[in-house]
Amino acid sequence: MPHNEPDILASAGHKTTETEFYSPIPEGYQRGRHKFVVVMGTVMSGLGKGIFSSSLAKLLKDKGLRVAPIKMEGYLNLDSGTLNPYRHGEVFVLDDGMETDMDLGTYERMLDQNLTRDNFVTSGQIYKRVLDKERHGGYLGRDVQMIPHVTGEVKYLLRSLAVKQNADVVFVEVGGTVGDFENGFYIEALRELAFEEGPGSVCFVGLTYIISPQALGEQKSKAAQLGIKRMMELGVQPHMIACRCRNVVTPKVIEKIAMFSNVPSRRVFSMHDRKSIYSIPEAMHKQGLDIEILTLLNLHQQVQPAHEDAARQEWSGFVANLSTDKRKFTVNVGITGKYAELRDAYASIDKALEHCGAKLSANVKIHWLDTTEMDDASPARIAEQLEPLDGVIVPGGFGHRGTEGKASCVRYCRENNTPYLGICLGFQMAVIDFARNVCGLADASSTEFNPQTANPVISELPEQKKIEGLGGTMRLGGKDVLVKPGTLAAFLYADHRPKNKAAGDPFTIRERFRHRYEVDPSYIETLESHGLIFSGRHPQQPIMQILELPIEKHPYFIGGQFHPELTSRPLHPSPLFMGLMAASIRHAHPDVPAQQISTRWLPLATQPAGA
Ligand code: GLN
Repeated sequence: MPHNEPDILASAGHKTTETEFYSPIPEGYQRGRHKFVVVMGTVMSGLGKGIFSSSLAKLLKDKGLRVAPIKMEGYLNLDSGTLNPYRHGEVFVLDDGMETDMDLGTYERMLDQNLTRDNFVTSGQIYKRVLDKERHGGYLGRDVQMIPHVTGEVKYLLRSLAVKQNADVVFVEVGGTVGDFENGFYIEALRELAFEEGPGSVCFVGLTYIISPQALGEQKSKAAQLGIKRMMELGVQPHMIACRCRNVVTPKVIEKIAMFSNVPSRRVFSMHDRKSIYSIPEAMHKQGLDIEILTLLNLHQQVQPAHEDAARQEWSGFVANLSTDKRKFTVNVGITGKYAELRDAYASIDKALEHCGAKLSANVKIHWLDTTEMDDASPARIAEQLEPLDGVIVPGGFGHRGTEGKASCVRYCRENNTPYLGICLGFQMAVIDFARNVCGLADASSTEFNPQTANPVISELPEQKKIEGLGGTMRLGGKDVLVKPGTLAAFLYADHRPKNKAAGDPFTIRERFRHRYEVDPSYIETLESHGLIFSGRHPQQPIMQILELPIEKHPYFIGGQFHPELTSRPLHPSPLFMGLMAASIRHAHPDVPAQQISTRWLPLATQPAGA
């Protein structure tokens, strides 16, 4: 029984020069304790492997199991920090500051679980580890090879993740499609992992695509068959197949796939398109995917039925609220951005709005505003575009393009009582508008757009001024924000106030950052004396992190130097977005009493007397 060969794991890491099995094992790793589910795509990319894998992981988590997802990217970049969101979707920042792929956002939202840099790996990181080790003499004079050294590193990282996050099941998503040059060594490593761990430890899932050409009017399985064959050629026999398709996959196609891939048809599933990704876990459960996984990995004993019932009930409540047919309100929310045509670049904002709309029963219509076209627009033209909107978001961004247009949007919102949420760059634009048009500093700007400006109200972070160059110089990841009592921010984040703090006490919250510039401390006094409130600060340093206008002056004007969208979860939407949503509903439906919109998210001061 080769899978029981004790030598493979026993010798690993110790006598690496004497064995062909290079499989270093992290300390504390116990074979059999951790299981692995591997999701690979065939036929084409963009099938939603991340959505599939996270939905499956969620089903197991709901059963009381500890899950740890990992995305293995084929590219050589060390992280996603320098990737263009146009091409690659948004950069998703984790609490520990790792800049990752937007799929990690899907995992965090679906699992309601904070991830770390251990949950994301690129080929670049793997090669770097191998090359660093080689330079430090880590291979004891051996020639360093793709197999076993690079593959050994992959297995090591997967097992380390299992130990570090004490995972019952690690969910491995292999980026790209089977057959890509880039991910070949991942697949080989996973094949080895399955061999070393033995039967019942690793479950391979092939996600494939069933074509349904309109001209034929029927589903064709050939491309899927060939894709799965490609997996098998690499030595991977899938245990389950999930078929993405526009419509429900027909029994005939299911049978064909089963026949050609040695997978019993009860383990071939139809994963057809659905309105919301959040309904996928339930759809998978109905088809019995979770049960099959438990059987394949021998995990039935670990299920906690009471945990599962409670989790499923909570989730199905949320999913029921997603149905847009019976919503009470409609709001029009504008989002400015130079990536306006690409929703993926703002995926988390889109999701945050979705969560809040579901919670407050509002259909959210998003309007993308191309601010590069607004740079030279007249106030009348700006008003024409913004007047129909009930709320405006100026999201994060880099560089000068479109910033004058954004400043005009902020000004319009401030002067016309349109609910406004500024995110990162949008926070900075609010400071610039306020400095220019309220404090009278006509040339106020950010040194990012105009290094020579006489009034650099936004400038490089004092502690970062010395650091040059792109990448690695940004203030990244989760940081504490001290919230000032009696403010809109304190009202919105009230649920985050620790139990031992009284209502009037300052308290800290945690949000995620990704920026290089900030409010220049020398302008704080001027801005505050003219009525801008900095309601969130760094607990020790003079770094301004939340700003707002008094709620007596404006129904909702707030900004965060951080990215609240990154921590918005379906069951726990971001407070800043909830506040925006409630205020936008109020704006759209001025005749509806505030109480009928939300007693939680509308500050009392903005409600008319007696409402
Ligand atoms: N460009 C600004 C900065 O670097 C804002 C960054 C952002 O919006 N993420 O500070």
